Amino acid sequence: MTSQTSSVPVPIMVTRSTLPPLEEYLGYIRQIWDTHCLTNNGPLVRELEQRLASYLASPHIWFVTNCTAALQIAIKALNLQGEIITTPFSYVATTSAVLWESCTPVFVDIRLGDLTIDPNLIEAAITPRTRAILATHVYGFPCDVAAISDIARRHNLKVIYDAAHTFGCRLDGRALATFGDVSCLSFHATKIFHTVEGGAIVINDDASLAERIRLTRAFGHHRDDHRHLGINGKNSEFHAAMGLCNLVHLDANLARHRRQHDNYSQLLSGTSVRIPRPESVNLEYNYAYFPVLLPTESAVERSLAALAALNIYPRRYFYPSLNRISYISGHPCPVSESAAEKVLCLPMSDLVTPELQEIIIGTLVAHARAPA
Ligand SMILES: *Cc1c(COP(=O)(O)O)cnc(C)c1O
Repeated sequence: MTSQTSSVPVPIMVTRSTLPPLEEYLGYIRQIWDTHCLTNNGPLVRELEQRLASYLASPHIWFVTNCTAALQIAIKALNLQGEIITTPFSYVATTSAVLWESCTPVFVDIRLGDLTIDPNLIEAAITPRTRAILATHVYGFPCDVAAISDIARRHNLKVIYDAAHTFGCRLDGRALATFGDVSCLSFHATKIFHTVEGGAIVINDDASLAERIRLTRAFGHHRDDHRHLGINGKNSEFHAAMGLCNLVHLDANLARHRRQHDNYSQLLSGTSVRIPRPESVNLEYNYAYFPVLLPTESAVERSLAALAALNIYPRRYFYPSLNRISYISGHPCPVSESAAEKVLCLPMSDLVTPELQEIIIGTLVAHARAPA
């Protein structure tokens, strides 16, 4: 069947940035022209922060340039020096932020079911130099936040979550982006909610840390009072405007993701393609990603080639396992390495029709079945 399918006219990438109706964005741009305020904590940045604070039900949230800077600022503001226990199954920025802040990443392998850090392996990796745990709610699947916070409390460690994938997820009724001492969000153009480039730092319940982070993102000073080291992590009015527009359309976007997600799940039921799933019971999920695990790496490679011939491009997200990157390196993490070899994230965007979903799944299933 798939061999007769002709290639689609527009490339189908794993994601496609949402854009609000242009008029809505222009409304905000006119405001910028009126106020002549382009950046430096302007009215649109403050409005976005207020809307995000109420959406996440969290008092302390700062809009920053991106999630990578958010992670770096969090590590700096928490004054972490030494080892940080982290997950090998994430985007490279999770680990590069640790290295950039001159800390040592110590990789702990993941759970097979939901691909988040395995809490049962964390304590064995703790040494006298361990200062924090930095874990990723990968694909918006919640880490075992209760077990991690318990370990952190007993060993006096800080907890930072890479919450780049979590916008729209709620765990036990609470925004998934508000756990740990600090959570870092990404509002990059490819994410389910975006501000072109952007991110946010959510500080859980510690007003003095929140104030420190607020100043760290803006050079560490208030007028002439230079309090501590800072960096430029501020974001602009133009980026905030995109966020304010996209928030209005968030529910429709989440609903489309859910429809595509349900359809992929249905098409895959009874096949040998495994779908990683969240382990939390009480989760409101954002359906932002549709990862699958094929039986072998060669099935991944053959599926990618077959789909590329049709102008369809799923992504090996995440590959390779971060402990295998040459300039990073770390202990072997067999579960993460195996998942990284077998994982594909399937396209989800306004261009993905049910017919395309059938073609994609048909191709994957054909190659999953064929011998390596
Ligand atoms: C996208 C992403 C990042 C990086 O976010 P930026 O905003 O582009 O810096 C970090 N971690 C994860 C898990 C991501 O998916």
